[in-house]
Amino acid sequence: MRVADIAVIGAGAVGCAVARRFALHGASVLVLEKEADLLSGASKANSAILHTGFDAPPGSLELACMQEGYAEYLDIRGQMNLPLLETGAMVIAWTEAELAALGPIADQARANGIGDVRLISPAEIASHEPHLSGRALGALLVPGEHIIDPWSPFLAYLLQAKAHDAEIAFSSEVTGGAFDGEIWTLQTSTGERRAKTVINCAGLYGDAIDKLLLGAADFEIRPRKGQFVVFDKAAADFLRTIILPVPTERTKGVVLCRTAFGNVLVGPTAEEQKDRVRATTDEASLRELVRRAIDMLPPLKDIGVTAVYAGLRPATEEKHYRIAAKPERQWITVGGIRSTGMTAALGIARHVYRMYDSSAAPPLPEQHLPLMPNLAEHLPRDWSQAGYGEMVCHCELVTRREIEAALSGPLPARDFGGLRRRTRCAMGRCQGFGCHARIAELTRGYFETPLTIDPVA
Ligand SMILES: Cc1cc2nc3c(=O)[nH]c(=O)nc-3n(C[C@H](O)[C@H](O)[C@H](O)COP(=O)(O)OP(=O)(O)OC[C@H]3O[C@@H](n4cnc5c(N)ncnc54)[C@H](O)[C@@H]3O)c2cc1C
Repeated sequence: MRVADIAVIGAGAVGCAVARRFALHGASVLVLEKEADLLSGASKANSAILHTGFDAPPGSLELACMQEGYAEYLDIRGQMNLPLLETGAMVIAWTEAELAALGPIADQARANGIGDVRLISPAEIASHEPHLSGRALGALLVPGEHIIDPWSPFLAYLLQAKAHDAEIAFSSEVTGGAFDGEIWTLQTSTGERRAKTVINCAGLYGDAIDKLLLGAADFEIRPRKGQFVVFDKAAADFLRTIILPVPTERTKGVVLCRTAFGNVLVGPTAEEQKDRVRATTDEASLRELVRRAIDMLPPLKDIGVTAVYAGLRPATEEKHYRIAAKPERQWITVGGIRSTGMTAALGIARHVYRMYDSSAAPPLPEQHLPLMPNLAEHLPRDWSQAGYGEMVCHCELVTRREIEAALSGPLPARDFGGLRRRTRCAMGRCQGFGCHARIAELTRGYFETPLTIDPVA
Protein backbone atom coordinates (compact mmCIF):
# COMPACT_ATOMS: atom_id res chain seq x y z
CA MET A 1 0.00 0.00 0.00
CA ARG A 2 1.24 3.50 -0.91
CA VAL A 3 2.66 5.44 2.04
CA ALA A 4 2.08 9.15 1.51
CA ASP A 5 4.47 11.65 3.03
CA ILE A 6 1.50 13.63 4.37
CA ALA A 7 -2.13 12.81 5.09
CA VAL A 8 -4.27 15.94 5.40
CA ILE A 9 -7.54 15.31 7.24
CA GLY A 10 -10.19 17.72 5.92
CA ALA A 11 -10.69 19.57 2.63
CA GLY A 12 -11.88 22.88 4.05
CA ALA A 13 -10.19 26.18 3.28
CA VAL A 14 -7.24 25.25 5.48
CA GLY A 15 -6.80 21.64 4.32
CA CYS A 16 -6.89 22.68 0.65
CA ALA A 17 -4.21 25.33 1.20
CA VAL A 18 -2.06 22.96 3.27
CA ALA A 19 -2.33 20.18 0.66
CA ARG A 20 -1.27 22.66 -2.04
CA ARG A 21 1.73 23.95 -0.10
CA PHE A 22 3.11 20.46 0.60
CA ALA A 23 2.46 19.29 -2.97
CA LEU A 24 4.27 22.36 -4.30
CA HIS A 25 7.32 21.27 -2.31
CA GLY A 26 7.24 17.83 -3.90
CA ALA A 27 5.75 15.91 -0.95
CA SER A 28 3.35 13.07 -1.75
CA VAL A 29 0.03 14.20 -0.29
CA LEU A 30 -3.17 12.34 0.53
CA VAL A 31 -6.28 14.40 1.39
CA LEU A 32 -9.01 12.61 3.34
CA GLU A 33 -12.39 14.35 3.38
CA LYS A 34 -15.45 12.81 4.95
CA GLU A 35 -17.98 14.67 2.83
CA ALA A 36 -18.62 14.14 -0.88
CA ASP A 37 -16.91 17.41 -1.89
CA LEU A 38 -14.55 20.11 -0.64
CA LEU A 39 -15.68 23.09 1.48
CA SER A 40 -18.57 21.16 3.01
CA GLY A 41 -17.80 22.23 6.61
CA ALA A 42 -17.12 25.65 8.17
CA SER A 43 -15.70 26.94 4.91
CA LYS A 44 -18.89 26.76 2.89
CA ALA A 45 -20.54 29.82 4.48
CA ASN A 46 -18.61 32.94 5.38
CA SER A 47 -18.42 36.67 4.67
CA ALA A 48 -15.65 36.36 2.03
CA ILE A 49 -13.62 39.30 3.30
CA LEU A 50 -9.90 39.21 2.62
CA HIS A 51 -8.72 40.81 5.86
CA THR A 52 -5.65 42.97 6.31
CA GLY A 53 -5.36 42.00 9.97
CA PHE A 54 -5.70 45.61 11.11
CA ASP A 55 -7.64 44.59 14.24
CA ALA A 56 -5.93 41.24 14.91
CA PRO A 57 -4.12 40.65 18.20
CA PRO A 58 -0.67 42.28 17.82
CA GLY A 59 2.19 39.82 17.50
CA SER A 60 -0.18 36.88 17.17
CA LEU A 61 0.21 33.86 14.93
CA GLU A 62 -3.21 34.72 13.51
CA LEU A 63 -1.96 38.13 12.38
CA ALA A 64 1.19 36.66 10.83
CA CYS A 65 -0.79 33.99 8.95
CA MET A 66 -3.40 36.49 7.77
CA GLN A 67 -0.77 38.84 6.42
CA GLU A 68 1.24 36.09 4.76
CA GLY A 69 -1.98 34.62 3.33
CA TYR A 70 -3.21 38.00 2.11
CA ALA A 71 0.12 38.71 0.37
CA GLU A 72 0.26 35.30 -1.29
CA TYR A 73 -3.34 35.58 -2.48
CA LEU A 74 -2.56 38.91 -4.18
CA ASP A 75 0.54 37.35 -5.66
CA ILE A 76 -1.06 34.28 -7.24
CA ARG A 77 -4.61 35.35 -7.94
CA GLY A 78 -3.89 36.83 -11.37
CA GLN A 79 -2.23 33.64 -12.60
CA MET A 80 -5.23 31.54 -11.52
CA ASN A 81 -7.96 34.00 -12.48
CA LEU A 82 -9.19 34.43 -8.89
CA PRO A 83 -11.30 37.56 -8.37
CA LEU A 84 -10.69 40.48 -6.04
CA LEU A 85 -13.17 43.26 -5.38
CA GLU A 86 -11.00 46.15 -4.23
CA THR A 87 -13.53 47.76 -1.95
CA GLY A 88 -11.62 48.96 1.10
CA ALA A 89 -13.49 49.09 4.41
CA MET A 90 -14.74 51.71 6.83
CA VAL A 91 -15.00 50.96 10.54
CA ILE A 92 -17.93 53.20 11.35
CA ALA A 93 -18.53 54.88 14.70
CA TRP A 94 -22.27 55.27 15.26
CA THR A 95 -21.94 56.44 18.91
CA GLU A 96 -19.61 58.75 20.83
CA ALA A 97 -18.12 55.74 22.65
CA GLU A 98 -17.33 54.09 19.31
CA LEU A 99 -15.86 57.33 18.02
CA ALA A 100 -13.48 57.38 20.98
CA ALA A 101 -12.46 53.79 20.18
CA LEU A 102 -11.38 54.58 16.61
CA GLY A 103 -8.07 56.24 17.56
CA PRO A 104 -6.76 53.21 19.47
CA ILE A 105 -7.92 50.92 16.62
CA ALA A 106 -5.96 53.10 14.15
CA ASP A 107 -2.89 52.85 16.41
CA GLN A 108 -3.29 49.07 16.57
CA ALA A 109 -3.66 48.87 12.79
CA ARG A 110 -0.43 50.83 12.29
CA ALA A 111 1.34 48.68 14.89
CA ASN A 112 0.11 45.67 12.89
CA GLY A 113 1.83 47.08 9.81
CA ILE A 114 -1.26 48.54 8.13
CA GLY A 115 0.13 52.01 7.50
CA ASP A 116 -2.51 53.34 5.12
CA VAL A 117 -5.42 53.53 7.56
CA ARG A 118 -6.76 56.95 8.50
CA LEU A 119 -9.59 58.52 10.45
CA ILE A 120 -12.19 60.23 8.30
CA SER A 121 -14.96 62.71 9.01
CA PRO A 122 -18.71 62.32 8.37
CA ALA A 123 -18.27 64.46 5.23
CA GLU A 124 -15.63 62.10 3.85
CA ILE A 125 -17.75 59.06 4.76
CA ALA A 126 -20.56 60.61 2.72
CA SER A 127 -18.24 61.20 -0.22
CA HIS A 128 -17.26 57.50 -0.18
CA GLU A 129 -20.78 56.25 0.52
CA PRO A 130 -23.45 58.80 -0.38
CA HIS A 131 -26.30 56.37 0.44
CA LEU A 132 -25.11 55.51 3.95
CA SER A 133 -27.11 56.82 6.92
CA GLY A 134 -26.04 60.33 7.89
CA ARG A 135 -25.82 59.23 11.55
CA ALA A 136 -22.18 58.09 11.23
CA LEU A 137 -19.96 60.19 13.52
CA GLY A 138 -16.65 59.20 11.99
CA ALA A 139 -14.81 56.21 10.58
CA LEU A 140 -11.49 54.48 10.21
CA LEU A 141 -10.76 53.93 6.51
CA VAL A 142 -8.91 50.66 5.84
CA PRO A 143 -8.16 50.69 2.10
CA GLY A 144 -6.67 47.16 1.97
CA GLU A 145 -9.75 45.16 3.07
CA HIS A 146 -11.19 43.39 0.03
CA ILE A 147 -13.85 40.91 -1.06
CA ILE A 148 -13.12 37.63 -2.82
CA ASP A 149 -15.02 34.65 -4.18
CA PRO A 150 -15.02 32.36 -1.11
CA TRP A 151 -15.01 29.09 -3.05
CA SER A 152 -12.96 29.24 -6.25
CA PRO A 153 -9.57 29.84 -4.56
CA PHE A 154 -9.79 26.65 -2.51
CA LEU A 155 -10.86 24.56 -5.48
CA ALA A 156 -7.92 26.09 -7.34
CA TYR A 157 -5.53 25.11 -4.50
CA LEU A 158 -6.80 21.53 -4.47
CA LEU A 159 -6.59 21.34 -8.27
CA GLN A 160 -3.03 22.56 -8.03
CA ALA A 161 -2.23 19.94 -5.38
CA LYS A 162 -3.81 17.26 -7.55
CA ALA A 163 -1.79 18.36 -10.58
CA HIS A 164 1.27 17.83 -8.38
CA ASP A 165 0.18 14.23 -7.69
CA ALA A 166 -1.83 14.67 -4.50
CA GLU A 167 -4.50 12.01 -4.04
CA ILE A 168 -7.86 13.47 -3.03
CA ALA A 169 -10.17 10.97 -1.34
CA PHE A 170 -13.71 12.27 -0.83
CA SER A 171 -16.38 10.48 1.22
CA SER A 172 -13.44 9.15 3.26
CA GLU A 173 -14.13 9.72 6.92
CA VAL A 174 -11.21 9.04 9.25
CA THR A 175 -12.63 6.73 11.92
CA GLY A 176 -9.49 5.53 13.70
CA GLY A 177 -5.80 4.85 13.32
CA ALA A 178 -2.49 4.04 14.93
CA PHE A 179 1.13 5.19 14.74
CA ASP A 180 3.85 2.52 14.83
CA GLY A 181 6.73 4.93 15.46
CA GLU A 182 7.34 5.49 11.74
CA ILE A 183 4.06 5.32 9.88
CA TRP A 184 0.44 6.19 10.57
CA THR A 185 -2.20 3.71 9.47
CA LEU A 186 -5.54 5.46 9.25
CA GLN A 187 -8.90 3.70 9.13
CA THR A 188 -11.32 5.47 6.84
CA SER A 189 -14.78 4.75 5.52
CA THR A 190 -13.14 3.90 2.17
CA GLY A 191 -10.46 1.62 3.59
CA GLU A 192 -7.06 1.77 5.25
CA ARG A 193 -4.58 4.53 4.29
CA ARG A 194 -0.97 5.06 5.31
CA ALA A 195 1.13 8.19 5.72
CA LYS A 196 4.31 9.26 7.48
CA THR A 197 2.86 12.50 8.90
CA VAL A 198 -0.74 13.47 9.63
CA ILE A 199 -2.01 17.06 9.52
CA ASN A 200 -5.33 17.50 11.26
CA CYS A 201 -7.31 20.21 9.40
CA ALA A 202 -10.71 18.87 10.49
CA GLY A 203 -12.21 22.27 11.37
CA LEU A 204 -15.32 21.77 13.49
CA TYR A 205 -14.01 18.27 14.37
CA GLY A 206 -10.41 19.28 15.11
CA ASP A 207 -10.64 18.31 18.77
CA ALA A 208 -12.48 15.08 17.98
CA ILE A 209 -9.75 13.95 15.56
CA ASP A 210 -6.98 14.71 18.08
CA LYS A 211 -8.88 12.72 20.72
CA LEU A 212 -9.54 9.85 18.34
CA LEU A 213 -5.95 9.45 17.14
CA LEU A 214 -3.77 10.98 19.87
CA GLY A 215 -5.98 10.09 22.83
CA ALA A 216 -6.41 13.73 23.95
CA ALA A 217 -6.96 17.21 22.57
CA ASP A 218 -5.47 20.49 23.83
CA PHE A 219 -8.64 22.40 22.98
CA GLU A 220 -12.39 22.04 22.68
CA ILE A 221 -14.36 23.16 19.64
CA ARG A 222 -17.25 25.45 20.56
CA PRO A 223 -19.12 26.09 17.31
CA ARG A 224 -20.14 29.71 16.84
CA LYS A 225 -22.96 30.26 14.38
CA GLY A 226 -23.19 33.23 12.04
CA GLN A 227 -26.42 34.02 10.17
CA PHE A 228 -26.51 36.15 7.01
CA VAL A 229 -29.04 37.92 4.78
CA VAL A 230 -28.26 38.43 1.08
CA PHE A 231 -30.00 41.32 -0.69
CA ASP A 232 -30.85 41.35 -4.40
CA LYS A 233 -28.28 42.61 -6.88
CA ALA A 234 -29.99 45.99 -7.24
CA ALA A 235 -28.58 46.80 -3.80
CA ALA A 236 -25.00 46.75 -5.08
CA ASP A 237 -25.55 50.19 -6.68
CA PHE A 238 -25.85 51.68 -3.19
CA LEU A 239 -22.59 50.45 -1.68
CA ARG A 240 -18.91 50.32 -2.57
CA THR A 241 -17.00 49.89 0.69
CA ILE A 242 -17.15 47.17 3.34
CA ILE A 243 -18.98 48.67 6.33
CA LEU A 244 -17.53 47.27 9.54
CA PRO A 245 -18.67 47.89 13.11
CA VAL A 246 -16.20 48.77 15.85
CA PRO A 247 -14.98 45.27 16.81
CA THR A 248 -15.35 43.94 20.35
CA GLU A 249 -13.19 41.48 22.26
CA ARG A 250 -15.73 38.74 21.39
CA THR A 251 -16.61 39.36 17.75
CA LYS A 252 -15.77 41.27 14.59
CA GLY A 253 -19.48 42.11 14.52
CA VAL A 254 -22.09 42.53 11.81
CA VAL A 255 -20.69 43.54 8.44
CA LEU A 256 -22.46 45.14 5.48
CA CYS A 257 -20.74 44.60 2.15
CA ARG A 258 -21.07 43.66 -1.47
CA THR A 259 -20.28 40.13 -2.58
CA ALA A 260 -18.09 39.21 -5.52
CA PHE A 261 -21.30 37.92 -7.12
CA GLY A 262 -22.97 41.34 -7.18
CA ASN A 263 -25.25 41.16 -4.13
CA VAL A 264 -25.13 42.95 -0.78
CA LEU A 265 -24.62 40.89 2.36
CA VAL A 266 -25.37 41.65 6.00
CA GLY A 267 -24.15 39.44 8.85
CA PRO A 268 -22.91 37.41 10.59
CA THR A 269 -24.42 36.98 14.03
CA ALA A 270 -22.25 35.30 16.69
CA GLU A 271 -24.19 32.57 18.51
CA GLU A 272 -22.69 29.79 20.59
CA GLN A 273 -24.19 26.36 19.97
CA LYS A 274 -23.33 22.72 20.61
CA ASP A 275 -24.37 21.29 17.23
CA ARG A 276 -21.36 21.00 14.87
CA VAL A 277 -23.41 20.10 11.80
CA ARG A 278 -26.58 22.11 11.49
CA ALA A 279 -26.46 25.87 11.12
CA THR A 280 -30.09 26.94 11.03
CA THR A 281 -31.46 30.43 10.50
CA ASP A 282 -34.26 31.94 12.59
CA GLU A 283 -36.68 34.63 11.64
CA ALA A 284 -36.02 36.95 14.59
CA SER A 285 -32.27 37.09 13.92
CA LEU A 286 -32.78 37.59 10.19
CA ARG A 287 -35.29 40.39 10.77
CA GLU A 288 -32.83 42.06 13.14
CA LEU A 289 -30.08 41.80 10.50
CA VAL A 290 -32.37 43.37 7.89
CA ARG A 291 -33.30 46.13 10.36
CA ARG A 292 -29.64 46.87 11.06
CA ALA A 293 -28.79 46.83 7.35
CA ILE A 294 -31.57 49.32 6.54
CA ASP A 295 -30.54 51.44 9.50
CA MET A 296 -27.03 51.70 8.03
CA LEU A 297 -28.04 51.85 4.34
CA PRO A 298 -31.62 53.20 4.09
CA PRO A 299 -32.19 52.43 0.35
CA LEU A 300 -32.14 48.72 1.27
CA LYS A 301 -35.72 49.12 2.53
CA ASP A 302 -36.89 48.88 -1.09
CA ILE A 303 -34.68 45.91 -2.04
CA GLY A 304 -35.76 42.29 -1.82
CA VAL A 305 -33.88 39.50 -0.10
CA THR A 306 -32.32 36.87 -2.37
CA ALA A 307 -31.25 34.34 0.24
CA VAL A 308 -30.43 33.69 3.86
CA TYR A 309 -27.82 31.28 5.19
CA ALA A 310 -25.74 30.44 8.24
CA GLY A 311 -22.23 29.14 8.85
CA LEU A 312 -20.35 27.69 11.83
CA ARG A 313 -16.98 28.99 12.99
CA PRO A 314 -14.64 26.37 14.53
CA ALA A 315 -14.13 28.50 17.66
CA THR A 316 -12.49 27.16 20.82
CA GLU A 317 -12.34 28.21 24.45
CA GLU A 318 -9.46 30.55 23.53
CA LYS A 319 -9.38 33.12 20.77
CA HIS A 320 -6.07 32.24 19.14
CA TYR A 321 -5.31 29.63 16.47
CA ARG A 322 -4.58 26.20 17.97
CA ILE A 323 -1.71 25.08 15.74
CA ALA A 324 0.72 22.64 17.34
CA ALA A 325 3.17 19.98 16.23
CA LYS A 326 3.84 16.71 17.99
CA PRO A 327 7.06 15.67 16.24
CA GLU A 328 7.38 12.45 18.25
CA ARG A 329 4.01 11.38 16.82
CA GLN A 330 4.62 12.88 13.34
CA TRP A 331 1.46 14.91 13.77
CA ILE A 332 0.44 18.54 13.33
CA THR A 333 -2.89 19.92 14.52
CA VAL A 334 -4.28 22.98 12.75
CA GLY A 335 -7.27 23.73 14.96
CA GLY A 336 -9.49 26.58 16.05
CA ILE A 337 -9.19 28.52 12.79
CA ARG A 338 -12.15 30.61 13.75
CA SER A 339 -13.03 33.87 12.04
CA THR A 340 -10.19 34.60 9.65
CA GLY A 341 -9.29 31.26 8.12
CA MET A 342 -10.27 32.09 4.57
CA THR A 343 -7.77 34.97 4.52
CA ALA A 344 -5.12 33.17 6.52
CA ALA A 345 -5.29 29.77 4.80
CA LEU A 346 -2.27 30.30 2.52
CA GLY A 347 -0.27 31.77 5.41
CA ILE A 348 -1.27 28.93 7.73
CA ALA A 349 -0.12 26.49 5.05
CA ARG A 350 3.30 28.17 4.86
CA HIS A 351 3.58 28.21 8.66
CA VAL A 352 2.71 24.52 8.88
CA TYR A 353 5.19 23.67 6.14
CA ARG A 354 7.94 25.49 8.08
CA MET A 355 6.99 23.49 11.21
CA TYR A 356 7.36 20.31 9.17
CA ASP A 357 10.57 21.24 7.35
CA SER A 358 12.57 23.84 9.24
CA SER A 359 15.03 24.16 6.35
CA ALA A 360 12.00 25.34 4.25
CA ALA A 361 13.52 24.29 0.96
CA PRO A 362 12.10 26.26 -2.00
CA PRO A 363 9.08 24.86 -3.83
CA LEU A 364 9.33 23.06 -7.16
CA PRO A 365 10.47 25.44 -9.92
CA GLU A 366 7.74 24.36 -12.38
CA GLN A 367 4.27 24.86 -10.90
CA HIS A 368 1.02 23.87 -12.50
CA LEU A 369 -1.42 26.81 -12.36
CA PRO A 370 -5.09 25.97 -12.86
CA LEU A 371 -7.10 28.74 -14.53
CA MET A 372 -10.44 29.14 -12.78
CA PRO A 373 -13.70 30.07 -14.50
CA ASN A 374 -14.95 33.49 -13.43
CA LEU A 375 -18.08 33.66 -11.27
CA ALA A 376 -17.61 37.26 -10.11
CA GLU A 377 -20.03 39.85 -11.39
CA HIS A 378 -17.47 42.62 -12.00
CA LEU A 379 -15.65 40.53 -14.63
CA PRO A 380 -16.89 38.99 -17.92
CA ARG A 381 -19.02 35.91 -17.24
CA ASP A 382 -19.38 32.81 -19.39
CA TRP A 383 -22.81 33.85 -20.73
CA SER A 384 -21.18 36.84 -22.46
CA GLN A 385 -18.97 34.52 -24.53
CA ALA A 386 -20.32 32.78 -27.64
CA GLY A 387 -21.26 29.11 -27.67
CA TYR A 388 -22.42 28.68 -24.09
CA GLY A 389 -25.16 26.30 -25.17
CA GLU A 390 -28.12 27.10 -22.95
CA MET A 391 -28.97 29.39 -20.03
CA VAL A 392 -29.73 26.95 -17.21
CA CYS A 393 -30.01 29.25 -14.17
CA HIS A 394 -31.61 32.53 -15.26
CA CYS A 395 -31.19 34.29 -11.90
CA GLU A 396 -27.42 33.80 -11.71
CA LEU A 397 -26.94 33.51 -15.49
CA VAL A 398 -25.30 30.09 -15.28
CA THR A 399 -24.78 28.36 -18.61
CA ARG A 400 -24.91 24.71 -19.56
CA ARG A 401 -21.26 24.99 -20.58
CA GLU A 402 -20.37 26.05 -17.00
CA ILE A 403 -22.37 23.20 -15.49
CA GLU A 404 -20.84 20.64 -17.82
CA ALA A 405 -17.35 21.95 -17.05
CA ALA A 406 -18.03 21.70 -13.29
CA LEU A 407 -19.10 18.06 -13.71
CA SER A 408 -15.91 17.11 -15.52
CA GLY A 409 -12.18 17.64 -15.07
CA PRO A 410 -9.82 16.47 -12.32
CA LEU A 411 -12.10 17.46 -9.39
CA PRO A 412 -15.69 17.39 -10.62
CA ALA A 413 -18.59 18.49 -8.40
CA ARG A 414 -19.75 15.49 -6.42
CA ASP A 415 -22.93 16.85 -4.91
CA PHE A 416 -25.40 19.70 -5.40
CA GLY A 417 -23.59 21.94 -2.88
CA GLY A 418 -20.33 21.42 -4.74
CA LEU A 419 -22.00 22.27 -8.06
CA ARG A 420 -23.54 25.41 -6.57
CA ARG A 421 -20.17 26.53 -5.23
CA ARG A 422 -18.51 25.86 -8.60
CA THR A 423 -21.13 27.63 -10.74
CA ARG A 424 -23.59 29.59 -8.51
CA CYS A 425 -26.50 27.71 -10.08
CA ALA A 426 -29.70 27.86 -7.98
CA MET A 427 -28.22 30.54 -5.71
CA GLY A 428 -30.17 33.48 -7.12
CA ARG A 429 -33.50 35.11 -6.44
CA CYS A 430 -35.64 32.01 -7.10
CA GLN A 431 -33.27 29.71 -5.16
CA GLY A 432 -33.51 27.01 -7.81
CA PHE A 433 -37.29 27.04 -8.38
CA GLY A 434 -36.77 27.71 -12.07
CA CYS A 435 -33.72 25.56 -12.81
CA HIS A 436 -33.71 22.66 -10.37
CA ALA A 437 -35.42 20.22 -12.72
CA ARG A 438 -32.98 20.99 -15.54
CA ILE A 439 -30.00 20.74 -13.17
CA ALA A 440 -31.34 17.37 -12.01
CA GLU A 441 -31.36 16.20 -15.65
CA LEU A 442 -27.88 17.53 -16.39
CA THR A 443 -26.40 15.95 -13.25
CA ARG A 444 -28.04 12.53 -13.72
CA GLY A 445 -25.40 9.86 -13.05
CA TYR A 446 -22.86 12.28 -11.55
CA PHE A 447 -23.79 12.49 -7.84
CA GLU A 448 -23.74 9.75 -5.20
CA THR A 449 -27.01 11.24 -3.96
CA PRO A 450 -28.92 12.07 -7.16
CA LEU A 451 -31.24 15.06 -7.48
CA THR A 452 -33.80 12.99 -9.33
CA ILE A 453 -34.69 9.40 -10.14
CA ASP A 454 -36.27 8.03 -13.28
CA PRO A 455 -40.02 7.43 -12.98
CA VAL A 456 -40.96 3.82 -12.31
CA ALA A 457 -41.97 2.24 -15.64
C1 LIG B 1 -20.02 33.15 9.70
C2 LIG B 1 -18.59 33.11 9.28
C3 LIG B 1 -18.00 34.23 8.69
C4 LIG B 1 -16.64 34.19 8.31
N1 LIG B 1 -16.10 35.24 7.62
C5 LIG B 1 -14.80 35.17 7.21
C6 LIG B 1 -14.24 36.20 6.43
O1 LIG B 1 -14.93 37.14 6.02
N2 LIG B 1 -12.92 36.13 6.12
C7 LIG B 1 -12.13 35.10 6.52
O2 LIG B 1 -10.94 35.13 6.25
N3 LIG B 1 -12.65 34.07 7.22
C8 LIG B 1 -13.97 34.08 7.56
N4 LIG B 1 -14.52 33.04 8.27
C9 LIG B 1 -13.65 31.98 8.77
C10 LIG B 1 -13.42 30.83 7.81
O3 LIG B 1 -14.58 30.50 7.09
C11 LIG B 1 -12.95 29.65 8.65
O4 LIG B 1 -11.85 30.06 9.41
C12 LIG B 1 -12.53 28.49 7.77
O5 LIG B 1 -13.60 28.14 6.94
C13 LIG B 1 -12.11 27.29 8.58
O6 LIG B 1 -11.70 26.30 7.66
P1 LIG B 1 -11.19 24.89 8.10
O7 LIG B 1 -10.59 24.28 6.88
O8 LIG B 1 -10.36 25.01 9.32
O9 LIG B 1 -12.50 24.09 8.56
P2 LIG B 1 -13.63 23.35 7.70
O10 LIG B 1 -14.08 24.16 6.56
O11 LIG B 1 -14.69 22.90 8.66
O12 LIG B 1 -12.90 22.08 7.11
C14 LIG B 1 -12.71 20.90 7.83
C15 LIG B 1 -13.03 19.72 6.95
O13 LIG B 1 -12.70 18.52 7.64
C16 LIG B 1 -13.65 17.54 7.30
N5 LIG B 1 -13.63 16.51 8.34
C17 LIG B 1 -14.05 16.62 9.62
N6 LIG B 1 -13.90 15.46 10.26
C18 LIG B 1 -13.36 14.58 9.39
C19 LIG B 1 -13.01 13.20 9.46
N7 LIG B 1 -13.18 12.45 10.57
N8 LIG B 1 -12.50 12.62 8.35
C20 LIG B 1 -12.32 13.33 7.20
N9 LIG B 1 -12.69 14.63 7.09
C21 LIG B 1 -13.19 15.25 8.17
C22 LIG B 1 -14.95 18.32 7.23
O14 LIG B 1 -15.95 17.65 6.48
C23 LIG B 1 -14.51 19.63 6.60
O15 LIG B 1 -14.67 19.65 5.20
C24 LIG B 1 -15.87 33.05 8.61
C25 LIG B 1 -16.48 31.92 9.19
C26 LIG B 1 -17.84 31.93 9.47
C27 LIG B 1 -18.49 30.69 9.96
